[in-house]
Amino acid sequence: MARLMYSSKINKIRSFALILIFGGILLMYGGILSRGIDWLVLIFFILGVLMIVLSCMVYVWIGTLSLKAIPIVCPNCEKPTKMLGRVDACMHCKQTLTLDKNLEGKEFDEKYNTRKYRRELKEEQKNTSE
Ligand SMILES: [Zn+2]
Repeated sequence: MARLMYSSKINKIRSFALILIFGGILLMYGGILSRGIDWLVLIFFILGVLMIVLSCMVYVWIGTLSLKAIPIVCPNCEKPTKMLGRVDACMHCKQTLTLDKNLEGKEFDEKYNTRKYRRELKEEQKNTSE
């Protein structure tokens, strides 16, 4: 079985925004091609504009995420990268990274970023400190 490669979250979102922009441009191009059918042109253009607006929002979102992301130097390729959440992957070499000492050496799992897992961990810590 091929192992799934994890790419860094910021890169994932960035490629999503790029796809949206291309989708929007393609839709508008479709609108130009369907000249003569007014309602079709309108639908293509509205959808195209919506997609481009959405991608702009995604870019703004990436910006705020980048601010929250913690800059670190990847231990594997020694390039600077940013990580989001408890576990993430290096932007350059896809090395999995973690900030949590408890998770070091564990199999990389997206579940460590979920709210449910964090809550469970918090409760665990509460129980041990009491
Ligand atoms: Zn790396």
